[in-house]
Amino acid sequence: MDLFEYQGKQYFARYDIPVSPGGVADTVDEAVVQAEKAGYPVVVKAQVQVGGRGKAGGIQLANNADEVRKHATNILGMDIKGHVVKRLWVEHASDIAKEYYASFTLDRSAKQFLGMLSAKGGIEIESNPESIVTLYVNPAEDLDPGAVRKWVDSAGMKQDEANTIDLGDAAKAEVVDTLLKLYRCFVEGDADLVEINPLILTPDGHIHALDSKVSLDDSAAYRHPEWDAFRGLQVMDEREKLAKEKGLQYIGLDGDVGIIANGAGLAMSTLDTVTQVGGSAANFLDIGGGANADVVTNALTVINTDPKVKVILINIFGGVTRCDEVAKGIIEATKRVQLKSPIVVRLDGTNVDLAREILDANKSDTLIRAADMLDAARKAVQLAGGK
Ligand code: GDP
Ligand code: MN
Repeated sequence: MDLFEYQGKQYFARYDIPVSPGGVADTVDEAVVQAEKAGYPVVVKAQVQVGGRGKAGGIQLANNADEVRKHATNILGMDIKGHVVKRLWVEHASDIAKEYYASFTLDRSAKQFLGMLSAKGGIEIESNPESIVTLYVNPAEDLDPGAVRKWVDSAGMKQDEANTIDLGDAAKAEVVDTLLKLYRCFVEGDADLVEINPLILTPDGHIHALDSKVSLDDSAAYRHPEWDAFRGLQVMDEREKLAKEKGLQYIGLDGDVGIIANGAGLAMSTLDTVTQVGGSAANFLDIGGGANADVVTNALTVINTDPKVKVILINIFGGVTRCDEVAKGIIEATKRVQLKSPIVVRLDGTNVDLAREILDANKSDTLIRAADMLDAARKAVQLAGGK
């Protein structure tokens, strides 16, 4: 789950990372109330889950109620890269001496946590990727403050625009402290990504988070009841919402081949095979073991709502799951759901002969049986209009 900036800042605050006082507003009047509370000058900030809000005009400084009204009126309803602004965050404005960048994420190929730090934050980070200094952390060990100090030293942070004066010990200690807190927020907070851009130095020498980007690991939701508060305003993929209601493990993708498989491994391999033969998957969907007619119906219902889907590929390897049950489920489901796309079915494993008889008895232009996974992927991609 990706958080909005204001939610990310609330999350940061739990870990004592310095953020500015502020509040959310869904109307112009509320924005003025929040501005009065935060104290002028304030920044009025569009809450959308996309970067570059500043460039798009979604971040504005205001010195009084009139300016807040003007900016709030402009920003509410604004379209930023396809995201319509419905909510604002109004916070006390900070004075900025210098902008830096800091983040922690997981580097899967290195099997380590990866910290990234740059002396050139804000929008400058895009044109200066070489300024990023990395720190790899073994997930099985604690983060060593000494290593963080060295990391900060190597980033070469300066305190002036001309980049001549070294940051100095006191502010450097605040950077180290903030990074240690950000790391705790990342690990204990079960995040996949925590990013502060810009992390700023104020003219009076303090370190402060001006923006937040936080992505939480949904698999850890069970141990974070406090995350429920974040869910209300999440923009969820309609397909994912429906799948969740139906208890399915579903991830929406951008292609046109809808995929149903049993087991995450087989679902992944099916995705890969579709890609390999020149197609692209519309989703990842693992229907798990013991799939019956209800589960297959639910899966087909979800995929059927995706307008991009041109063909559905069902790939089942029967172990505990009996292929004849799945075949019955498919036939049953096609009677219950008015499907918009043809189905290519590959079944193998337990009771496959029975399953083939059932499918062959119901064969049609829109229900096609494939011999194996590769054959199924080829047939599906061909029907989708690919290679
Ligand atoms: P983004 O463009 O979506 O990444 O939004 P940010 O929250 O990072 O804001 C973009 C830029 O606006 C920052 O890099 C700052 O330069 C500026 N900005 C944001 N908040 C303040 C503030 O409190 N005071 C000042 N002076 N500038 C701000
Ligand atoms: Mn930013």
